[in-house]
Amino acid sequence: MSAPITHYPGQLIMSDAQDMPEVSLDHIELNERPLIVCDVDEVVLEFLTPFRGFIQSQGYELLARSFKLHGNVVHAGTSEVLREDIVDDLLEAFFIAQGDWQFPATGVSEALTALSDHADIVFLTAMAPRHETLRRALLDRFGLHYPLVATEGAKGPVVQRLHRLRKQPVVFVDDILRNLRSVREHVPDCLIIHIMANAHFRVFLPPLDAGMTSAADWPEAARMIQAHFRV
Ligand SMILES: [Mg+2]
Repeated sequence: MSAPITHYPGQLIMSDAQDMPEVSLDHIELNERPLIVCDVDEVVLEFLTPFRGFIQSQGYELLARSFKLHGNVVHAGTSEVLREDIVDDLLEAFFIAQGDWQFPATGVSEALTALSDHADIVFLTAMAPRHETLRRALLDRFGLHYPLVATEGAKGPVVQRLHRLRKQPVVFVDDILRNLRSVREHVPDCLIIHIMANAHFRVFLPPLDAGMTSAADWPEAARMIQAHFRV
């Protein structure tokens, strides 16, 4: 088994995914108010820290030495780098077991609860649809009942379809520069916020583009979003 790795796309491991079938948004109903679209892994749920714990339980280690997974997963004993297809299999196994490992990023529940008084919130996760049911259940367990869209395709076109020609402000939050750029390209008036839970890997993030903003944590992101809505 070798699953396509679009799930945690450290830059060198993201498939292009441009010709994916269009994802269904039939279950999303938006009100006439601002919209916040949030990535899930490393933004709403911790990913890298639990993934590191998961692979440690199997005798491997994740080294924070560049902004990607492939090449940074090693055998704990020998430090030998794992083949990419084995890392792919570990990711697939992790997402099947995600309910035992992943947990909300610090402050996210409080921030989204406060923001949801004034805005609609949609989770946009870069995940194969086969894992969506497990992810939905995990988010619900933490009280994060906001609607979820799972796609392996580019995120910009999905945010564009959600926002359409609405006049209300729109915000997009993600940890991967490529996703931020995709949304910037398709929804130029969107406030683009980078947030990433894991500080060990965040230091390897390439510089953001002009006009994109970075939040250190959810309380800061919430202040940025509220300030944007007041404009
Ligand atoms: Mg992410």
